[in-house]
Amino acid sequence: MALLTNKRSLIVAAHCDDVELSCGGTLLATPARRAYALVLVGGKCKHRRRICEANLENLGVVAVYMDQPDCAVPVSAATVARIEEAIDEAGAEVVITHASDDTHQDHRAVRAMAETALRRRPISLVEMDSPSVTPTWQPNCWQPIDADAKERLLDPYRPHVGEDLIRWWGCPDSVASVRGVPACERYRIVQWWESR
Ligand SMILES: [Zn+2]
Repeated sequence: MALLTNKRSLIVAAHCDDVELSCGGTLLATPARRAYALVLVGGKCKHRRRICEANLENLGVVAVYMDQPDCAVPVSAATVARIEEAIDEAGAEVVITHASDDTHQDHRAVRAMAETALRRRPISLVEMDSPSVTPTWQPNCWQPIDADAKERLLDPYRPHVGEDLIRWWGCPDSVASVRGVPACERYRIVQWWESR
């Protein structure tokens, strides 16, 4: 299933690097898509912000950065309203965001606010993979990707992230790789509305 082809999508992410980590291969694989991103923790690490800006610009993703506190993103009505605005600005048909089954507190906060922003809108909601999803998270959509191209996209982050993340990049779907299936990015479609 081509998640993004011919869809206007908004990726709501907590941190600089989350968009590329979770969806970078999908974005590379669907060059004709129209994608927007809202990154909530856009201000703390200037190195990662610059890398993210360059990557998303090269991918043709229109990105907006907020300045929420790292590891302490609050669930707030103001941020829900900002996500609603971003949905309208993007004309989004699909919102892709973190999984609710994710151990990172910022990811869970972003997921909760994104779902709240969609509460009265017939817009598809899709969860994206992350190194911090729990073992109980159940993807139901696999997007084949070019793992080498994704690794090149993530390479500039190497000096700024831990070894765990780097290992995760090289093997986005370890089970699929072991079985000889092409590398994939994993998603969970929570609700799907066909285009209006
Ligand atoms: Zn993150």
